[in-house]
Amino acid sequence: MDNELIGVYVHWPFCTRLCPYCDFNIYKNKPDLAFELTQAIVDDLRTWREASGSRTLASIHFGGGTPSLMSIDHLRAIIEEVQTLWDPNVDLEIALEANPDDISREKLSQWKSVGIERLSIGAQSFDDDVLKFLGRNHNSKSARRALEMAVDMIPRVSTDLIYGWLGQTTDHWRRELEQVLAIEPGHISTYQLTIEDKTAFARAEQRGDARVVDTDKSADLFDLVGNVLGEVGYDRYEVSNFAKTAKDQSRHNKLYWQGEDYVGVGPGAHGRLTGAGQRTATIATLKPQDYMEGGASFTSPVTTRELMSCEARAEEYVLMGLRISEGISLSKFRALSGCELPEEVVDQLVRDGLLMQNGDKLMATEQGRLVLDSVSHTLLNEP
Ligand code: SF4
Repeated sequence: MDNELIGVYVHWPFCTRLCPYCDFNIYKNKPDLAFELTQAIVDDLRTWREASGSRTLASIHFGGGTPSLMSIDHLRAIIEEVQTLWDPNVDLEIALEANPDDISREKLSQWKSVGIERLSIGAQSFDDDVLKFLGRNHNSKSARRALEMAVDMIPRVSTDLIYGWLGQTTDHWRRELEQVLAIEPGHISTYQLTIEDKTAFARAEQRGDARVVDTDKSADLFDLVGNVLGEVGYDRYEVSNFAKTAKDQSRHNKLYWQGEDYVGVGPGAHGRLTGAGQRTATIATLKPQDYMEGGASFTSPVTTRELMSCEARAEEYVLMGLRISEGISLSKFRALSGCELPEEVVDQLVRDGLLMQNGDKLMATEQGRLVLDSVSHTLLNEP
């Protein structure tokens, strides 16, 4: 089964400051490389178009790193090129991840002028002490101001919040959520602070200097966000993501969760391309310099390319698909893997209140979402 839709993910790997918990492919900002990197991304897009053929373009997503550091000319060049290469869908999403310090009324109107209609703001917290602990550049005032301006000027706005740092109470978390709700963005993403290898926080934890709450507290905070946002009408349409209406959901992220195709350009970007019944996973070379010196190509020897087995495709589909409230389609699973999910295991997980089945659809319950890794593991590892 081949895919018709395609999304484009552009990874801009530069940040003004490297946060101590972040394990993305990031580098200290180097403005003098921006022009060359943009050129390399445009070249890379063309090689992807050769590989994908004509497709319906569902989304263009600028992530990173900090793509709000990009100049308007570079954003425009990429957006125009993408829309020349693939056929824009009627509801094409063009989204940019932005740090609060990069947001001003002037910037917002520039972004709008090149077609950006969704902004995802990395506020993370509205508490100065927490922002300091997280090593962020901005403060609570600039986060609030940026969010207010964006809600005022951009059609669809999301903000990220981080929870689960050591010492956080449910009262504190409720107050953070209330501050966001007062501004009313259409979308809120809540990420649990996790300790990733090779980060400053991982080194602190190794020294015995804890950074995150324990599992029980983390479950309380997870429940609380669902209750607080649910009470005022936000739908938890994905484990970490809440939207006021269906139009506020991230169409780009839904491509990932629903097993669709996406181009990944920029250093370290991941991509998926299905064609002739086969699905290829790609990872662009990590270092900006290597990428600019010829790694920037779907067919380049320094791009990691792997033909995914049916098992790998089915596994990815379950792991991603159970994250969203729509769940997975059993017939799609069958088409991807050539086998069935074990019926007895499914029934047991339904009886345990972790899964729900509705015809062809299998979905995780609220309780199941809390232990999603273990539910997916149980589903995939039974004979
Ligand atoms: S700004 Fe975002 S991408 Fe950059 S280091 Fe911080 S968390 Fe990571």
